Amino acid sequence: MPELPEVETVVRQLEPEVEGRRIERLEVLDERWARPVPPLELEAAVSAGTVERLGRRGKYILLGLDGGRTLVMHLRMTGNLILREGEEMLDPSEGRRLYESERSTEERHLRARFVLDDGRELWFTDPRRFGEAFLIDDDGLEERFARLGVEPFSPEFTPAALGEMAAGRTAPLKSFLLDQSGVAGVGNIYADEALFRAELHPLSPAGSMKPEHAEALRDAVVAALEAGIDAGGSSIDDYRDARGERGSMQDEFLVHTREGEDCPRCGGTIVRIVVGGRSTYFCPGCQVRLRRRPKRGRRPRRP
Ligand SMILES: [Zn+2]
Repeated sequence: MPELPEVETVVRQLEPEVEGRRIERLEVLDERWARPVPPLELEAAVSAGTVERLGRRGKYILLGLDGGRTLVMHLRMTGNLILREGEEMLDPSEGRRLYESERSTEERHLRARFVLDDGRELWFTDPRRFGEAFLIDDDGLEERFARLGVEPFSPEFTPAALGEMAAGRTAPLKSFLLDQSGVAGVGNIYADEALFRAELHPLSPAGSMKPEHAEALRDAVVAALEAGIDAGGSSIDDYRDARGERGSMQDEFLVHTREGEDCPRCGGTIVRIVVGGRSTYFCPGCQVRLRRRPKRGRRPRRP
């Protein structure tokens, strides 16, 4: 499932390619992608628009169009946004539609495509079909994302801010990191990697962090995400970058998916547990399980 590093990789690759380009037309091949807006309506609104900027907020891709509008896309579980040379979906030699078996995987999973003015095409492919898109006025962007948490690479993401966010929370640190209203863009992979880097047990209650833990975790989140971007994202399953290529972060995971392997820090054995329904990998040898902090003003009971 694409997380911040995967989305950021796609946005960085596409930016120089599509900025300033005119979208000759958008074709929505799956009504679910545009829901609840009818495909024809979205096609009409986006076609003939010019791409003024490309950006990211959390795991959302923001395609800024002229006229003060932004097409917001989310890849969800298996979405990919891939730039392709303008191939025809019709077989030119036969002038007929290709049979299902002759079509590439990407063609079978094509949900929408943008035909650009240089003849190239931007394909949104998505086997599981959870990916989505909607058009919004730029004026409404801030409100639309008001409940989305802090951007991990922004100056607002300080140890103190993370500590405040976590204060009083009894949810496990793993779940706390996955909550998009706290820190935006961290998903299952990078939450595991960040907790390992911070030497914190995923089941520690979020509110149990002391300032030094919040600082370690802040740094670890940033470092884990940067490592992901440097590796072009992780391709455990469907993720491909904007060139259709796999990322290599999965080869560099410290703990994620490494059940039974040696911990790269202490040599202990990495285990897998399930936290909030999500597979969670960590080293019980060196990731400290914090205790709940007693409420302020109340003295701990004597044994
Ligand atoms: Zn260890």
